Amino acid sequence: MDYRSWAEIDLEKLDKNIKKVFSYVDKDIFAVVKADAYGHGAVEISRYLDKNPYISKLCVATAEEGRELRDAGISKDILVLGGILPEEISYFNKYNLKPVISDFKQLSLVSELNCKGVHIKFDTGMHRLGFYKDSLPDIVRFVKEKGIYVEGIMSHFPSADIDRKLTEYQIKEFKEIYIFFLEKGFKIPFIHIQNSAGLVYKCDFCNAVRVGLLLYGEKPTDNFPVSVETVMSVKAKVILKKKLKKGDRVSYCGTFEASKDMEIGVVSFGYADGLPRDLSNKGYFLINGKKAKILGNVTMDMTIVDLTDIDVKEGDPVLIIGKDGYREIRFSDVARACNTIPYEIMCRISKRVKRFIKKGNVSDEREKAFKENSISV
Ligand SMILES: *Cc1c(COP(=O)(O)O)cnc(C)c1O
Repeated sequence: MDYRSWAEIDLEKLDKNIKKVFSYVDKDIFAVVKADAYGHGAVEISRYLDKNPYISKLCVATAEEGRELRDAGISKDILVLGGILPEEISYFNKYNLKPVISDFKQLSLVSELNCKGVHIKFDTGMHRLGFYKDSLPDIVRFVKEKGIYVEGIMSHFPSADIDRKLTEYQIKEFKEIYIFFLEKGFKIPFIHIQNSAGLVYKCDFCNAVRVGLLLYGEKPTDNFPVSVETVMSVKAKVILKKKLKKGDRVSYCGTFEASKDMEIGVVSFGYADGLPRDLSNKGYFLINGKKAKILGNVTMDMTIVDLTDIDVKEGDPVLIIGKDGYREIRFSDVARACNTIPYEIMCRISKRVKRFIKKGNVSDEREKAFKENSISV
């Protein structure tokens, strides 16, 4: 059985990216694997990270995501960034998950947990989860009274990529929070605020970072000092070639009209596979190293491309995301064209796109050889 669309996950690149992040920050790395590891496949990515010595914890968004990893045999600590809801207590216990705590309701739930520690989150400017700083005396009283083990304190940057002033203010606030705990006699093993974009800021008092985007190979800003490689490449096929006559119109609503006779191809990748419909008439794929422009509206399962000057046979692979020779389409290129962020494009690569894990150094040309060398998710 072959696939019409598939993604290749290159663990060697993931490994390189982790090493680069580590040599840049020299702190504990918490790998963020929420949202199916940003579309890469949380189970397979986490199985690999579970054995990677640079990764000290895994972060998911929900208890259910944590359950999936435990069921797959993952043994490292799992931090649930989205916190804990009352109906999830048994899940946290059964699957040994550590919650991020954002208010006193959640803090009271913790006494029913048999987990070995919680991370307390502070809101220093994101205005999403987290306690405000003025709760500090009450938090300290509460955790001392109930004997709750605070394994970590944390905060989160909303705009480390674009707002230096706010980010530096947040670091200052978070440092005051840290010092408050210190002065109350707490020894907290993990102090963390930095995400990928936040790594460029100096946070000497912090000893861990929570990184997602960079591990998967996208820079948070164009001039980011750590260069990383895209871990996931996304592919499909030319399933049909045909000719257009001058004046023919292509796809739903006929938004492209041929200004000359031309050759086109139907590619087995549409918006149900995760291709933004925004790319209609403006994006392109790579076929045999050449740019094949998208013609007309992207459809649910297929997209039509211009094959003018492209030497290709039916059945040949098409690169949706990835590198071919000196040309590359990155998640950030697609995101820019659609006025969104690479995170969204990664997460949108759908379940229909079969994931293959690439373990060794296997040539891209030989899909078959590649598949025999890989394990499927
Ligand atoms: C998703 C997330 C991260 C990771 O952010 P990246 O920009 O992908 O590095 C870190 N911390 C929290 C709280 C998150 O929700």
